[in-house]
Amino acid sequence: MFLIPCPYCGERDQSEFAYAYQAHVHRPKDPDRLTDKEWADFVFIRDNPKGVFAERWIHAAGCRRYFNLMRNTATDEILAVYRIDEPQPKVEPALPATPSGEAPIGSGNDAVKVVKPAERGS
Ligand SMILES: [Zn+2]
Repeated sequence: MFLIPCPYCGERDQSEFAYAYQAHVHRPKDPDRLTDKEWADFVFIRDNPKGVFAERWIHAAGCRRYFNLMRNTATDEILAVYRIDEPQPKVEPALPATPSGEAPIGSGNDAVKVVKPAERGS
């Protein structure tokens, strides 16, 4: 079970929430002055970092309010939750130390998975 702390309702199951989009993306003040490429970049291009990412979520099966969430995309660790009228907090991810420097959870890095002797088949 994955819990998300709604800033209005408290901690609830992830199934009550829906991801909306990248947080802190603002509509251009004068879109008529943009080139087609600039407009397309605004509409379609979003960051996709491995690490800390500011996301906008909605508590769809709860209060139906939007809020922002800072999440480490490598580990799914929620680092901060804040209302959309609040400033973005500064957060540092606490990545677990591994020999390769990769996060062991959600990284897709098989080299850091722990294999028990019984699972080796030898
Ligand atoms: Zn809520």
